[in-house]
Amino acid sequence: MLNQKDAFPIFQNQPNLAYFDSANTSQTPQVVIDAMNRYYDTYRANVGRGGYDLTDTATHAVSIARQQVADLISCNPDHLLFTSGTTESLNRIAKWCVSYDTIIVTEAEHNANIIPWLAQGRSLENGKLVVIPINDSTGYIDVDLLESKLEQLDGAVMMSFCATSNVSGITQPWEHIASICHKYGASVAVDFCQTVAHSKIDLSVCPVEWACFSSHKMYGPTGVGALYTAFDLDSLEPSVYGGGAVEHVSFNTVEFSKGIAKHEPGTPSIASIIGFGVAAELIAYIGYAEIEEYITDVNVNLLSYGFDVLPNCKLFIHTQGSVRSVFSLIPTKCHAHDISVLLNGSGVAVRTGKVCAHPLVNRISPKRGIVRISVSPFNDMDDCRKLVSNLQTALLKFT
Ligand code: PMP
Repeated sequence: MLNQKDAFPIFQNQPNLAYFDSANTSQTPQVVIDAMNRYYDTYRANVGRGGYDLTDTATHAVSIARQQVADLISCNPDHLLFTSGTTESLNRIAKWCVSYDTIIVTEAEHNANIIPWLAQGRSLENGKLVVIPINDSTGYIDVDLLESKLEQLDGAVMMSFCATSNVSGITQPWEHIASICHKYGASVAVDFCQTVAHSKIDLSVCPVEWACFSSHKMYGPTGVGALYTAFDLDSLEPSVYGGGAVEHVSFNTVEFSKGIAKHEPGTPSIASIIGFGVAAELIAYIGYAEIEEYITDVNVNLLSYGFDVLPNCKLFIHTQGSVRSVFSLIPTKCHAHDISVLLNGSGVAVRTGKVCAHPLVNRISPKRGIVRISVSPFNDMDDCRKLVSNLQTALLKFT
């Protein structure tokens, strides 16, 4: 179903669109839109309050969604918070982990996993932030180097990193990295934003302390995401205060609710949470093995049109045989934005610039940025042909 364009209403309304920006935000299938509309059409009410049938139905729908999202990553739903997305989740994690002596990140982090740490006064220079470089041939970090850093570091250490880079599309061996961190007593936070739509995350097999991702990168609506923590939610201080999260408030004291409720004050994005749950269920129903087959087909189609031998550019990280949903081209004769402007005229949507991963893109293409192509199962032969031929024409315009 994810490989059929008619499952996505956008393609009926934009029949000429060749959408290669799913790493930025994915498109939404009709089933997800229907589930959200059903809430507005038939049982709209607030959740966790009220005392009448509609509010009970809405509350139940949110708890089903929490179970659906938790099932996708095999975690306990009582440890899974809904947030507005990965950016908020990473900011919350940073706040909770402010007392750690050292934070380890990779060079391939999204800005959302860099700035919250800088805001705490950490930097590469003062040693409170340690950065593990990535290898430009493989896209992986050097796990031996990580291990030697962990050996040297004193005090409380945490590694916070993205499993799949939004620049290279390479997925780190995050399970192995987590087990090495745990061996040295370090905590682990994983940003699965670019992973969850494409590969199985099984926290029951590989536990981590923190995990997060966004609904809008996995066929769900915008404005909602998941934040898992292995820690006891009762022992964590809320990062936002408000109604619905308390048992008792006076002008002198507050008694917080227990568990999830303590950390989800205010009215949540109810329809979006319901859509998020359906998107998670949809991925689970199709299965990651089948999704990988779809993505393999798209990779094969791109290569059959000569995607890897385009002129006037370099493909960042050539990996043979591995299936990827994100590819970045480094233009050698023009700025990446010149390419997106030309592609846009032909209905081809790609992302260009620094793609919110400034340190890595500034190193690999400081002057020209990158042209990022990200694929989804719905990208058919025609999309691939259109992308490659328009890229070829655009790149050849500059000499
Ligand atoms: N981390 C990664 C790896 C991402 O690709 C993104 C989105 N580009 C984010 C974090 C931030 O996600 P959001 O914009 O949904 O908060």
